[in-house]
Amino acid sequence: MANRDSAENQLIDYKNNLTTSPGFITTASGNPVGIKDAIQTVGPRGPALLQDVHFLDEMAHFDRERIPERVVHAKGAGAFGYFEVTHDITKYCAAKIFEKVKKRTPLAVRFSTVGGESGSADTARDPRGFAIKFYTDDGIWDLVGNNTPIFFIRDPILFPSFIHTQKRNPQTHLKDPDMFWDFLSLRPESTHQVCFLFGDRGTPDGYRHMNGYGSHTFKMINATGEPVYAKFHFKTDQGIRNLDSKQAHELSATDPDYSIRDLYNAIKNGNYPSWTMYIQLMTFDQAKKYKYNPFDLTKVWSQKDYPLLPVGKMVLDRNPSNYFAEVEQIAFSPAHMVPGIEPSPDKMLQGRLFSYSDTHRHRLGANYLQIPVNCPYRVGVKNFQRDGPMTVNDNQGGTPNYFPNSFSGPDECPRAKSLQSCCPIKGDVYRFSSGDSEDNYSQVTDFWVYVLDDAERKRLVANIVDHLSNASQFIQERAVKNFTMVHADFGRMLTEGLNLAKTAKI
Ligand code: NDP
Repeated sequence: MANRDSAENQLIDYKNNLTTSPGFITTASGNPVGIKDAIQTVGPRGPALLQDVHFLDEMAHFDRERIPERVVHAKGAGAFGYFEVTHDITKYCAAKIFEKVKKRTPLAVRFSTVGGESGSADTARDPRGFAIKFYTDDGIWDLVGNNTPIFFIRDPILFPSFIHTQKRNPQTHLKDPDMFWDFLSLRPESTHQVCFLFGDRGTPDGYRHMNGYGSHTFKMINATGEPVYAKFHFKTDQGIRNLDSKQAHELSATDPDYSIRDLYNAIKNGNYPSWTMYIQLMTFDQAKKYKYNPFDLTKVWSQKDYPLLPVGKMVLDRNPSNYFAEVEQIAFSPAHMVPGIEPSPDKMLQGRLFSYSDTHRHRLGANYLQIPVNCPYRVGVKNFQRDGPMTVNDNQGGTPNYFPNSFSGPDECPRAKSLQSCCPIKGDVYRFSSGDSEDNYSQVTDFWVYVLDDAERKRLVANIVDHLSNASQFIQERAVKNFTMVHADFGRMLTEGLNLAKTAKI
C-alpha cells in the first residue's frame, strides 16, 4: 500500500486492529438481522410490504441523517488532547484549570473555516475558527476564538448582516462581491480585520501552523475576589506557515479537505501539534485610561503595552473516533464559563453569550449538553432542569426538581459564590452607535507600517485587488478611501492595482 497516508488507511487499520469478532448485524432496536441485502416482497419480482419494518427503519433513519448545518463555521476538523499549566497565574485567576503548575485538563478543539458550507474548500481565504472546550473540574469552559485577535465588527446587532454579505446573494445563490465590499466599506471598523484576511495569514497552511486567540476581553478573578481584564493567545509551536494565493487556490480544487487531512494524519502519525497559551492582563484602572477602548473587538491590546505572559501548553494527541458524534455535534458556547473567568463588557462577547447556546438548542436540541462530547463528564450536572427532547441520561432520578427545597437537593457552592465579581455600573440606556465614534484606523496603520515588510504589503494589496476589482466602481472607490485612511501608500497602490485590473478586463 505505497503512497497511502494514515487517513486513507483508516478502514484497513480498523480491520487489522480488531481484537474481537465483529458480531452480527442488528436493527436499531437490537434485533438480529438474518438477510441484509433484500427488502421483503411478494414473490421475487413483487411489490414491497409495509410490514418490512427493518427496511422502513433503515430508510427513515437515513432520511434524518443530517442535522442543520452551522450557519457559520460549517466546515471543520476536530481533535482531542490536554492543557498543561507551565506557569503559576493563581495570583490573577482562581479557575481550577490554572490551580497548579503541571496540572493537566482534558480538552477538545474544533478548527474551521467561517463562510463556506460544509463541503467547501479548506484553503479558502477566510478567518479560521479556533474553539477549545476544556473539561475542567468545575465543568465546561469554552474559549470560542479565531486565528485572529480581532473581528470585523464591534456591535453584535450587525453580525447577521455582516455574515449575509459574506455568504450567498439571496436571489442568485452566488457569492456577491458587491455585497461583500459594500458592507465592509460602509463599516470602516472592519478595515483592520480585512487587512488580516487579505494578508498572508488569510490562507494558513492547514490548522497546525496558525495561532489562536480568545479575541474578546475577559475578566479573571483571583481567590480574594480581585478582578483583572485578560486576553488569551495560543501561539503555534509548529511555527506560522501560510499558503500563497496560488497554492491555496490550487488546493481548493485538488484537495478541498486539505486541512482536515493534515491534522488527522499528523495526530495519527504521533506528530502531536501543540500551542503555547499566553495571557495579557489589564487592570480596571488601566482600562479606564487606555488610549483605545479595551472592549472593542476590532482592536488588539498592544503587546508592547501589555506583554504576553506564558501560562501553559495545549497538546492535541487524539483524533475523533467518529466525526459526526464528536465534531459535527460538538457545541461550543462562550456562555460556558467557570468560576474565576467572567465576561467583560465587550459587546460582541455579550451578544455571543446568547447566540451560541441558542444555535445549539436549534441544531441539536434543548438537551445538547447531554451529548457525550459536550457534557461536563468530569463533574456531572446537578440542577433543576428536567425533561425535554432526547433526554438520554437518568434525568437526575428522584432528586428534587425545584430550589429551595427541604429534601436534600444540591446546594449553592460557596467557592463559586466567593469568586463572583461585583462591579458597580451606571450609565444611560441607549443604542450607542460606534461606527464613527471610535478610532478605526490607527492600529491598522501600525500594522501596515511596522508589522508588514514591503513584500507582505505588496501581497496584501494584490490579494485585495484580486477580489475588490469584481465589485462595482463606486464601491471600489469607497473601499480605497478607507484604505487610504490607513496609509496614503496603501490607497495609491490599490488604485494602481485596480486600474491595471480594469485595463486587463477590457
Ligand atoms: P507587536 O510588534 O508587539 O506585535 C505585532 C504582532 O503582529 C505580533 O503579535 C505578530 O504575531 C503579528 N503579526 C506579524 N505578522 C502578521 C501578519 N501578517 N498578520 C497578522 N498579524 C501579524 O505590536 P503590537 O502588539 O503593538 O501590534 C501592532 C499591530 O500588530 C497591531 O495594530 C495589529 O494590527 C497587529 N497584531 C497585534 C497583535 C496583538 O495581540 N497585539 C496580534 C496580531 C497582530 P506573532 O508574534 O504571533 O507572529
